[in-house]
Amino acid sequence: QLRLSQATPISQHSALARLLSTLAVLEQKDGKLNTSSLAAVTAGTKLGGSVTAFVAGSGVKSVADQTAKAQGIEKIIYVENGAYDRGLPENFAPLLVENIKKGGFTHVFAGHSAFGKNLMPRVAALLDTQQISDITAIESEDTFVRPIYAGNAILTVQSSDAIKILTVRGTAFPPPELEGGSAAVEEGVDPKAECQTEWVSEDLAKSDRPDLGSAERVVSGGRGLKSKEEFDRIMPPLADALGAAIGASRAAVDSGFADNSLQVGQTGKNVAPQLYLCAGISGAIQHLAGMKDSKVIAAINKDPEAPIFQVADVGLVGDLFDKVPELTEKLKVL
Ligand code: FAD
Repeated sequence: QLRLSQATPISQHSALARLLSTLAVLEQKDGKLNTSSLAAVTAGTKLGGSVTAFVAGSGVKSVADQTAKAQGIEKIIYVENGAYDRGLPENFAPLLVENIKKGGFTHVFAGHSAFGKNLMPRVAALLDTQQISDITAIESEDTFVRPIYAGNAILTVQSSDAIKILTVRGTAFPPPELEGGSAAVEEGVDPKAECQTEWVSEDLAKSDRPDLGSAERVVSGGRGLKSKEEFDRIMPPLADALGAAIGASRAAVDSGFADNSLQVGQTGKNVAPQLYLCAGISGAIQHLAGMKDSKVIAAINKDPEAPIFQVADVGLVGDLFDKVPELTEKLKVL
């Protein structure tokens, strides 16, 4: 078995790189690629060796053709079958396992999304391997880094499994450019596994704003907003002025100020925008776990001792009911 020193990027070990082959599982909806799922491709390119992408559902040949332009992908395997449209793990897991076995992949990456978290443990179970979740870095072909305890500790995990099954944190592996590449597109095997589960319906919160998980700018409100009425009066104009997505603390969500889908933090979404501007949020560790990788953190809080100021790049001590509307007006004239 080949072993690497931790300091050397794995791709520099050409003999080993030749032995590595990654399958990156992509997500699609209604025949459109979910570009954040390309984080799995980035993880594969960081590992080194060849990277094959995988997509399944109806109309996915066009998704494969479009994704072929992404940098770093050697081949795209697609399986055209409407049975995989909803990403139900009951039939998607056996489908993936067939294609993993056929391709002889050493590593399988998927995003740490609802889809990836649902699918990959079953894939690992079918292959009798140990799944590794939510990785933020790759140290070598068998050693991976992941946060635990809401990001308060960092775990380095070494796996001796022949096939490594991993989910990756999107904010740690930015998606590649969708141009310049020329991957081969190939049809995969379809075991047409029976699925006892039926997809009935979904009720998604609709918004014209940028997607919280991938927005360049996020404005987030906390319990300091006092009520849903005040949240809706203060936060949307600020978001509009910045072209930002809206997020919220768990306290704001639990108090009914904002929808569940907007929660940022340990039990909500992980975001790493260019700008994270929060108002009336204290900065509890569970909240920080979801936003501390943001490039610039700006905070408005009336308490100068609020822990959020320990991580903020820019802080404004004051009453948000004065400061946020004032800031919004100033941004509008820019
Ligand atoms: P508070 O802590 O009450 O803070 C309100 C802040 O607003 C205060 O700092 C106050 O000074 C300020 N304020 C009040 N009025 C004004 C004003 N007029 N102007 C300016 N500032 C004002 N939390 C999350 O956010 N996300 C999670 O995913 C999450 N997961 C959790 C998981 C577990 C297992 C547990 C135990 C907790 C979790 N929490 C999570 C909850 C977390 O511990 C905090 O309770 C929560 O983040 C607090 O939200 P907050 O900052 O909005 O409220």
